[in-house]
Amino acid sequence: MESTANKKIQYKICSRCIMDTTSDPNLVLDENGVCNYCHEYDDLCKQYSHYKDNGEKQLSEIINKMKEDCKNDEYDCALGISGGVDSSYLLYLCHEYGLRVLAIHVDAGWNSEIAVQNIEKMCAKLGYDLHTVVMDWPTIKELQRAYMFSGLANQDVPQDHCFIAAVRQYCKKHHIKYLMNGANLATEGILSHAYQQSPRDWINIKGVYKKCGRGKISLKKYPHITFWDQYFGYEYFYPVKFINPLEYIDYSKKGAIALLEKEFGWKYYGGKHFESRFTKFFQEVYLPQKYGWEKRRDHISSLIVGGEMTRDEGLAEIQIPTSTPEQMAEETEYVLKKLDISEQEWQEILAAPNKTVADYPNELALKHCLQSIKHKIIK
Ligand SMILES: [Zn+2]
Repeated sequence: MESTANKKIQYKICSRCIMDTTSDPNLVLDENGVCNYCHEYDDLCKQYSHYKDNGEKQLSEIINKMKEDCKNDEYDCALGISGGVDSSYLLYLCHEYGLRVLAIHVDAGWNSEIAVQNIEKMCAKLGYDLHTVVMDWPTIKELQRAYMFSGLANQDVPQDHCFIAAVRQYCKKHHIKYLMNGANLATEGILSHAYQQSPRDWINIKGVYKKCGRGKISLKKYPHITFWDQYFGYEYFYPVKFINPLEYIDYSKKGAIALLEKEFGWKYYGGKHFESRFTKFFQEVYLPQKYGWEKRRDHISSLIVGGEMTRDEGLAEIQIPTSTPEQMAEETEYVLKKLDISEQEWQEILAAPNKTVADYPNELALKHCLQSIKHKIIK
């Protein structure tokens, strides 16, 4: 069966946000020209509306409970920090609420200098301890290299999975009960399904490495969470509770950037998640060149439906490239060299058929089975 990513499609764009068929070839428009993502966003807002009712009061109550639960511990919570807007603002917010935070940063070898400086400046000024987990470079390199040859859309999986796993493993080892999370509808309300391959699927990661890797490493040094860890371990046996404070407040990306710049000398580096040089390459070069997709449309659309930007402003912003062609060529050369991929191999990667998760072993069948068992028990 031909992958949907390889089909020729007719161009469509949403009349409310700027999602189009370059951000998801399967975009569905209703009779008013409004896309499925806008409808999903509205549903999420309804689902999450209880957060906003007395949000600050609810958040204060949660934080008081955290402080009580952790009064004999060294820290009230941990926070995975990338140096980006959301996690940096969250660190500031935790300080405002008087929480004792351990900031954990995972260095996968692609940090931009600005991101590292942002993290250091903030932790120093707020007086927070910073623990940096440095990934084994040969492991990350071989896994990322395998992904580049896999034809899969979401090239951020090897980085994202070890970020999630390393922070959780640290919490488990040091009995940290709470993990602060920067997830929020305001900046992430719209995420294209087209490349949202789950970064949590360990079966898929192993499968991709086995099929597309060079077999030079064993993945033993790669921090990972198994299916068991994800659905049972961290839930029931060594629980780590996730708190999403940004959902309880009126979070504004523009406001957060202004505050961080003023208070901490924090610097913005352009696109979302560009704190990693690999992510920058993935979003600016790999996805547009191999798939013809623009991930920026998700980010801008999220701000439009969240009311931080008008659709016209969004349409104007998407026309402004985040890098010049020269900068992109330089970035591509840097990434390919670091991953030991020749120019000829890069051309082969671009020309090879696009693949989906279903082309490799994955946890989807196991997940569906678990969901149907849960459903029967609850029924
Ligand atoms: Zn839309």
